[in-house]
Amino acid sequence: MDDPDSLGRYAEIASNSGVPRVARLTPRGRGAVATLRLEHAAAILDADPPLFRAANLRPASAQVIGRIVFGSFGCDAPEDVVYCRREEQVIELHCHGGDAAVARILRDLRERGVTVEDWFEQESRRLGLFAAECRSALARAPTLRTAELILAQNSGVLQSAVERVIAALPETSRAARLLEEIWRWRHFGSRLTEPWRVGIVGRPNVGKSSLINALAGYERSIVFDEPGTTRDVVTVETAFRGWPVQIADTAGLRTAAGPLEAEGMRRARDYLATADLVLMVFDRSQPGAAIDLQLLAEFPTALVAANKCDLPDAWGNTTPSTAVQVSATTGQGLGELVDQIVSRLVPETPTATTAIPISHRQGETLGLAREALLRNDVEAAVTALREMLTSG
Ligand code: GDP
Repeated sequence: MDDPDSLGRYAEIASNSGVPRVARLTPRGRGAVATLRLEHAAAILDADPPLFRAANLRPASAQVIGRIVFGSFGCDAPEDVVYCRREEQVIELHCHGGDAAVARILRDLRERGVTVEDWFEQESRRLGLFAAECRSALARAPTLRTAELILAQNSGVLQSAVERVIAALPETSRAARLLEEIWRWRHFGSRLTEPWRVGIVGRPNVGKSSLINALAGYERSIVFDEPGTTRDVVTVETAFRGWPVQIADTAGLRTAAGPLEAEGMRRARDYLATADLVLMVFDRSQPGAAIDLQLLAEFPTALVAANKCDLPDAWGNTTPSTAVQVSATTGQGLGELVDQIVSRLVPETPTATTAIPISHRQGETLGLAREALLRNDVEAAVTALREMLTSG
């Protein structure tokens, strides 16, 4: 359908009703059913030859709003689809969930001049960027607990809190206090869609892989009692008390290493430099080695686990006083370890009414408002705060 005349004809049809657009609502990848949302596209579907043929023989633009209709899409080798006109100018098309069916429908629509956009773009245009960010975050929430907090923001908690900051102006000190209350949750907010990152360090054979497996509850990394087995950063995603956590088993940090292990160690150190928490593991059944002490000194804020507590203790009173006694083999102490990990990652638990910025942009915009308040620029602060809520 490259014929410029026909493209011109479709453009004319489009210009009569509004810009025709389509977005895929369901995620990429194989699924049973895929859903596309079309705007201002009924006339394009009905243009000769029609792209959509309903089993009830009515044209797309004459279908009753809210009625679900079976039909076929496409001129050659049509696809079975379910069609529903949701609003005057909004259609949902449900087709086979494979990528091929979706790609083919999008191609046919694009050839008739329909703009293909992504779901986020469509939501931002329809609802504004702020609401689209909330919905996008909700779709990516890894746990029920994080989804509940995002839902609260989507239901007005964040918006009301930001409006209270604006209402407090021009009294800048009060506004700054209220703003600080929201801003301080920005890192936490970013973890509602991306897990907290915990890097495990310890010399080879202390039981890091075993501990991760025990914590995650399933076998993920290779457990093998020959030093240097874990050459890469192997990550496992799990949830502790409803908070999403990624645990990384770093390459056994040791001095004598080949080039492959050296690369593993470099990646491990990169991960550790940006991790939310470092968990240092040592084997309490073996006397402390220089590298154990080096690691304790290198990561002074690390949470320390004394593993293999099912075996006799070789550390005695040299054991760091805060170390949690665990056994990856028997599971002893794991509950206490999880509690300590959670209290380090989430030192303060938000309530259902805590305002939390949930996107990078929201955090940045609050930061701009905060800087503006610090220099007493009320106008710039209000502009940034309003933009955060409504920006399109
Ligand atoms: P990593 O090199 O630090 O990842 O250590 P691994 O997880 O591969 O464990 C090394 C060896 O220690 C394996 O033979 C494990 O079965 C054993 N091991 C790990 N944790 C424990 C534990 O808590 N108790 C005992 N008795 N053995 C353990």
